[in-house]
Amino acid sequence: MWAPSLPNKVDPWRLAAESGRLNGALTLATLPRLAAVLNRADGVANVALLAGVDQRGVRFIEGTVRTEVELICQRCLGVLRLPLEAVVSLGLARNEAEADRLPEEYEPLLVAEGVIGVADLVEDELLLALPLIPRHEDARDCQADGYRTPAGGEHDPPSATWASLLRDFPRSH
Ligand SMILES: [Zn+2]
Repeated sequence: MWAPSLPNKVDPWRLAAESGRLNGALTLATLPRLAAVLNRADGVANVALLAGVDQRGVRFIEGTVRTEVELICQRCLGVLRLPLEAVVSLGLARNEAEADRLPEEYEPLLVAEGVIGVADLVEDELLLALPLIPRHEDARDCQADGYRTPAGGEHDPPSATWASLLRDFPRSH
């Protein structure tokens, strides 16, 4: 599969100053924190980000990361393939005080100086875009996987495990 290449690392401040772009693809298998919560880490994340300085002087990185992930449905425990789109809107901040002053449409990206890993950035965004409780949208798809509504209503929710998994992944920067 052809894919434009992404740099391994980038200086976000410089990228913003130069109105740079990050376009390319990353295989999901190279994103270990994401791969750990996927049923199967096949596929590719398509990254389309651009950086710049907005009218208020805020340095930003925005765009989308799109992929398809394979999860386990928390209702029927069958395989669930889900298109995933992370809408990225990051405002650069050198410290907490700057982060607090960012306009609210931006998620702060704390970077004092130097470079950040592009894969880490993409992985964070995809982790945030994952559904809290992955489930087939249509319960009939669950029945197709052999799911029957539990008779006594007793159903140990595997979603609790899932949620705690996600909580263990704070943003890494
Ligand atoms: Zn299901």
